[in-house]
Amino acid sequence: SSDSAASPPRRSRLIVLAGPTAVGKGTVAADVRRRHPEVWISVSATTRAPRPGEENGVHYWFVSNEEFDAMIERGDLLEWAVVHQAARYGTPRGPVDLALASGHPAMLEIDLQGARQVRETMPEALFVFLKPPSWDELVRRLVGRGTESEAERERRLETARAELAAESEFDVTIVNHEVHAAAEQLVALMVGPVSTRSD
Ligand code: 5GP
Repeated sequence: SSDSAASPPRRSRLIVLAGPTAVGKGTVAADVRRRHPEVWISVSATTRAPRPGEENGVHYWFVSNEEFDAMIERGDLLEWAVVHQAARYGTPRGPVDLALASGHPAMLEIDLQGARQVRETMPEALFVFLKPPSWDELVRRLVGRGTESEAERERRLETARAELAAESEFDVTIVNHEVHAAAEQLVALMVGPVSTRSD
């Protein structure tokens, strides 16, 4: 069965992947990274602290509030937002421009507020909404991750509820039943030299 919207309107060299918290955007992006190294994936800057196992420059650029302020002032960020009322996250602009100039597909994995900003500045991008199979499944994934406190989880669920309503703003919806299938649907929307290898 096909999870993407019937006949996607177009494909693009720049894909913006958004969706509710804990839907698995990061996991899908990691699957694309592993199987399609020719796809460039943006590394965001954030003011939140690293979780165990997260590496600076790989998962995020972990920066201080002062450094983040400086990035905003210099115009270094393509978009930025406060996510979950907790920390700031932003997409460094220079690397995106370089990646697009290289001719390979590029992908941003960001929150809804960020996606709305990129829509204003880069309307040529394709906006993809990653959706959970159901609300119950989303709650299960959020609880299962077990990295947040009770209060933090409540905040994220509240955000997720509002974010689910934003699906209609997007060009394409992919339902994340299974990570690899979702990743391949995403890659099929990309323009540029993409390997068809899927082993
Ligand atoms: P986490 O803290 O769990 O890694 O990410 C929290 C949220 O921040 C996720 O929804 C993720 O998509 C979002 N996020 C990550 N990087 C960026 C970014 O550069 N810009 C924006 N607007 N959101 C981001």
